[in-house]
Amino acid sequence: MVKNKDEEKSGDAEVCPKCGSPLGEITTTKDGRKIQRCSTGSWNPETRKVEGCTYVRWFGSEPETLDEKCPKCGAPLLLVTTRSGKKLKKCSTSSWDPKTRQATGCDFVEWQKGSIVALDEDCPVCGEKLVLFTTSSGKKLKKCSTNKWDPKTRKAIGCEYAVWM
Ligand SMILES: [Zn+2]
Ligand SMILES: [Zn+2]
Ligand SMILES: [Zn+2]
Repeated sequence: MVKNKDEEKSGDAEVCPKCGSPLGEITTTKDGRKIQRCSTGSWNPETRKVEGCTYVRWFGSEPETLDEKCPKCGAPLLLVTTRSGKKLKKCSTSSWDPKTRQATGCDFVEWQKGSIVALDEDCPVCGEKLVLFTTSSGKKLKKCSTNKWDPKTRKAIGCEYAVWM
C-alpha cells in the first residue's frame, strides 16, 4: 500500500532544519503561495534581505483537478504538490483520515518523476551532449549527459557540468 508520507507527518511540531528554532507562522505571499519562515528570520523589505536565519519552507499549491480519470475507479484524478515540492497524481475519492491514521477511498497514487530531454548542445567542459532535466517540482537543469547519480556510492559520477535554468 502506498501512503503519502507528507500527510502522515502533519500535526507534528516542527523546527527549523537549519538552526533548530521553532518555525514561524505560515504566511501567504503576494502571489498566493504559502511560506513558512524560521521564527528567528524575517524579511526586511528595505534591504530586500532576510535577517536572521534564512530558512524558508514553500508549501505546495492546492490540489488541482485533472481532466483525467482514475484507472482504478474512474473518478477524476487530482494533481497534488507535496510540501517537499514533489508532485503526485491521486484519486479524488481518496483522503487521509487523521483519526484512524489510514487512507480511505481509492488508493490510486502515481508519483510524477522528473523527465530528461536530450539537447542538441555540446558540453563546454567535455564536449559530450547536454540533456535538459526537469525535476518533479518543475525546475529545469541543463547538465552533461555523462553526469549520472550513482545510488550505491550516493555520489554524482561523470562530468560535473550542470546549470540551473
Ligand atoms: Zn532557523
Ligand atoms: Zn480511484
Ligand atoms: Zn561534460
